[in-house]
Amino acid sequence: MNSARSPRIAIVGAGVGGLACARGLQLHGLSVTVFERETSSTARWQGGMLDLHVPTGQAAMRAAGLFPEFLALARPEAQELRALDPVTAAVLHHEAPADDERSAPEIDRGQLRGLLLGSLEPGTVHWGQSIRSATSLDDCTARLRFGDGTAEEFDLVVGADGAWSRVRPALSGAVPAHLGTTMVETWIDDVDTGHPALARLVGEGTLVAKVGSTMLSAQRNSGGHLRVYAALDVPPDWHEAAGVDLADASAVRAYLLAQFEGWHESLLDLLRHDGEFVNRPLYVLPVGHRWDHVPGITLVGDAAHLMPPFGIGANLALVDGTDLATAVATHASLDEAVRAYESVMLPRATAGARACAELAEIMTAEPVLDVDAARQRLNEQLLSPERTVGQR
Ligand SMILES: Cc1cc2nc3c(=O)[nH]c(=O)nc-3n(C[C@H](O)[C@H](O)[C@H](O)COP(=O)(O)OP(=O)(O)OC[C@H]3O[C@@H](n4cnc5c(N)ncnc54)[C@H](O)[C@@H]3O)c2cc1C
Repeated sequence: MNSARSPRIAIVGAGVGGLACARGLQLHGLSVTVFERETSSTARWQGGMLDLHVPTGQAAMRAAGLFPEFLALARPEAQELRALDPVTAAVLHHEAPADDERSAPEIDRGQLRGLLLGSLEPGTVHWGQSIRSATSLDDCTARLRFGDGTAEEFDLVVGADGAWSRVRPALSGAVPAHLGTTMVETWIDDVDTGHPALARLVGEGTLVAKVGSTMLSAQRNSGGHLRVYAALDVPPDWHEAAGVDLADASAVRAYLLAQFEGWHESLLDLLRHDGEFVNRPLYVLPVGHRWDHVPGITLVGDAAHLMPPFGIGANLALVDGTDLATAVATHASLDEAVRAYESVMLPRATAGARACAELAEIMTAEPVLDVDAARQRLNEQLLSPERTVGQR
């Protein structure tokens, strides 16, 4: 950047995409402020594991100078995958990582976010700051309006505020649509001591049993936690039609057990513990979502390209954040930087969304998915040379 003064850059959202961008900007000596609506880094449980792939998520962690720290926390053994027959629980497919397999090690989302947060200059993230809207101004700057009605102007606003972005409407009228599938999430603590049979069933990584897109899956997180997801082809408000109060765990459990009737008892035990349940309808932005460049505002991560959860969303968010920071540091003006970033990010996101859509069809049609092959195909589609901004 050639500028008499450091540009005023605001990032909305302290998810992995926004934090990777903030880290990249600070590594290049640029100032940045991150506005996050959550009140602190521990205000909300951050959810399950993310597998970071070599060419995307891992490359971003290298660029952030955090790769050794990532490796120290990552769990390569969690790359294990077991696909079971839903009725007999026979193992249909098993991928056991070799000792030196590091193509997609898993890390708890909270740990990854913690790593990125810990790398930022103190005070970078302003917690408890909910953004209501962003507006492009005539002089190529942008105005952020906060939840309390106050406003502030910036040279660049980066919307990293996820699926229901409040920044996106300044660029595009697209609204996420329900994928048709709704996940219900639950979790089990101390699985090794409290539920050893489930610990053995799941192993070190991910367990999947499915019929079409109806699926039960479980993934081992660090610290003996197990995350369980029940996926059903039901609308987001299925509970209203079914007369189920989501706060009533026993009612949700009974509903789910009825939906999975006939499935093997060992799999149903994933739902039979005393835990809470969280409704997680899956939404996507249209494949090929894009916008005409608007000076002063851009998007990274899910805000730009919300996709089905097939293991690339966080990887892409990390790469987007890293690429945008690199572009800002290496172009003469913010506007040129954002144009360069968008010219790479938008086609990359389209390729990713297309690959996810194809994968969704394969997943529904085939009884077992070869995850290694699917991941390789996804990454090949994402990584033609024109899909990176300079060297990461
Ligand atoms: C069940 C499930 C499993 C997944 N598994 C994987 C996986 O294994 N691998 C993978 O790569 N991806 C996975 N994904 C996708 C991945 O979670 C997302 O793509 C990724 O988190 C996107 O990161 P982000 O930074 O763009 O947005 P987010 O992680 O959503 O972060 C957005 C941030 O913005 C904040 N925010 C929102 N609105 C405002 C506002 N108005 N003002 C201020 N702050 C705001 C939020 O509080 C949040 O901190 C999965 C998704 C789901 C649903």
